[in-house]
Amino acid sequence: MNITVPISREIAAHVLAHFGHGGYEAGTFTRHLLSAMDTADPSNLAALGRAFPAYAAAVVGIKYDPEGVAFLQRLASGGFACTKCEGGDGPFVTVGASPLCETCHQGRQ
Ligand SMILES: [Zn+2]
Repeated sequence: MNITVPISREIAAHVLAHFGHGGYEAGTFTRHLLSAMDTADPSNLAALGRAFPAYAAAVVGIKYDPEGVAFLQRLASGGFACTKCEGGDGPFVTVGASPLCETCHQGRQ
C-alpha cells in the first residue's frame, strides 16, 4: 500500500473501526466525516480529502487497496518503525514497502 500522506495511529484506528476491522470509535464529528467519505463519489471524496487528507488517504486505502486493512491494523497497533530513523511514533507514510515517519519523509522531498 503506497500512502503519500502521513497517517497517525489514531486516524488508522478510527478508520478501522468505521469499516469494522478493529481499532476504536472516533468522536461524533469524525464518525460523520468517515460516513461522508465512505459514501462519497470520487469528486466529493477528493474535496473532503483537501480538508482532511490523512482520513481520505486511509479511507481510499481501506476501500480500494487489498493490503489496506493489514496496513492500517499494523499502523494502529504501533507495529511500524521508520526505515530511516527507526522511530516508532509516526505518523507514517509508506513508499512501497518502506514506511517512513513524517519527519524523514519531509526530509527526503
Ligand atoms: Zn524517521
